[in-house]
Amino acid sequence: MQKILNYINGEWLDPAGVEYFDVLNPASGALIARTPLSAASAVEAAAQAAAAAFPAWRRTPVQERVQYLFKLRDLLKSNLDEISRAITDECGKTFEESKAEMVRAIENVEVACGMPMMVKGEIVEDIAPGIDEILLRQPVGVCATIAPFNFPGMIVFWYFPYALAAGNTYIVKPSEKVPATMQVIFRLIEQAGFPKGVINLVNGAKETVDAILDHPQIRAITFVGSTNVAKYIYSRAAANGKRVQAQGGAKNPVIILPDADMDMAVRITADSAFGCAGQRCLATSLAITVGEARNAFTEAICDAAASRTVGYGLESGIQMGAVINAASKARVEQLIGVGAAEGAGLPVDGRGTRIRGYENGFFVRPTILTDVQPGSEIWKTEIFGPVLSLMHVNTIDDAIALANSHVYGNQASLFTSSGAAARKFRYEVEAGNVGINIGVAAPMAFFPFSGWKNSFFGTHHGQAMDAVEFFTQQKVVVERWPKEWTRKF
Ligand code: NAD
Repeated sequence: MQKILNYINGEWLDPAGVEYFDVLNPASGALIARTPLSAASAVEAAAQAAAAAFPAWRRTPVQERVQYLFKLRDLLKSNLDEISRAITDECGKTFEESKAEMVRAIENVEVACGMPMMVKGEIVEDIAPGIDEILLRQPVGVCATIAPFNFPGMIVFWYFPYALAAGNTYIVKPSEKVPATMQVIFRLIEQAGFPKGVINLVNGAKETVDAILDHPQIRAITFVGSTNVAKYIYSRAAANGKRVQAQGGAKNPVIILPDADMDMAVRITADSAFGCAGQRCLATSLAITVGEARNAFTEAICDAAASRTVGYGLESGIQMGAVINAASKARVEQLIGVGAAEGAGLPVDGRGTRIRGYENGFFVRPTILTDVQPGSEIWKTEIFGPVLSLMHVNTIDDAIALANSHVYGNQASLFTSSGAAARKFRYEVEAGNVGINIGVAAPMAFFPFSGWKNSFFGTHHGQAMDAVEFFTQQKVVVERWPKEWTRKF
């Protein structure tokens, strides 16, 4: 069983005398690690280390700071398989999905390596004769990320590469459900040679998070997780005067028009709904057919769901892995039952799945609910499992209105061959990420990432220039240099 340590001030530390959270391999149910639930003292040590490292790191030229990220990028690439195996073993997704996750992480490091271009200030000379106005972007200080379980490797990379490149120092708090991936990644961070204290790792759960939210030396916090916790993080961190952005849950709709390429719509919707066992914030969970699209789509998506190969993500030919733990399997199965009790059809029912050789795993096969009604429990609730709810309307206006009536706004997609319909959808739909003939509209690292409505609390988003804005504070300097003085030179 793997020992999970904190990494504080360049040292691997065992936070002894704390409680532990058992981490099971979701496919086998075997105990693989125990996450130490660090007390506030570990956060205190990490914050002190990061605060002590900040002055020298801030004064390190940006073009030197990014050299550490270039090294880290190479290390991540050459250790991609090892990291991906760790992700699959603790999170349950397939090896290919784990690798794809890390490709996104690496992409963010690469974009952050362009920080010298991104952190540049601005100047307007002679706003009045001899007076110049200058905008500087300076780091905010010690920053932290609180991460969810579903992307054990990628999510922290939406933030820390930008923060470090911009001159901040950092604390990462992974989900207690998936601590092992960060052990591998922090070994590589150590090898990249960042100065002591510049980046720290603290494992734990609520008590650890609360200590981060309340620590006076931590100036900016990013969170990714469920909406209720996002609201809590946002309000408590803001009440403590910190910068904060909090990404929350989702219930992403896809609309299928009758003129869509039906094969493409079915294949891509199935990948979006069932990829990563539906445990993606960009997973499709509602499919709204319009007019004549209904029958062809329903039949084909049921076939796609029923034929997906489910099993241990490190075995070849597996298209979908397990959900994260027993509680999640029980919750997903219970919600499928709620949908059926509310009157939805259940042509493909993934409850009670047992995989030969993995009888103790937490598997739920792809599930389809039909005729789901707006306002029903199953329509409202984020299931976060491989469950797709089908709905039907008569017009694109009805479909967009239905999509927009949801409290979440993380992603919405449309399948069509009509440019006019696509333009209308893009214009009217209320979501931070929009796909046109795309099922997972995950922005590349050079675009910002976040949702709208109850899927996001904050202003600046993750990735790219939004991350630069979030992790820097602007200072405007107005300087007077009278002509009589400069004439001397
Ligand atoms: P979660 O909210 O349970 O946990 C996220 C983090 O918050 C963890 O680090 C956990 O330790 C901490 N936490 C949990 N409860 C807490 C509490 N009461 N007080 C303080 N800290 C607490 O989320 P999860 O189950 O790990 O992840 C799944 C959720 O994340 C889904 O809702 C999914 O939609 C969402 N998600 C959103 C995005 C996005 O970009 N919007 C991306 C990935 C996941």
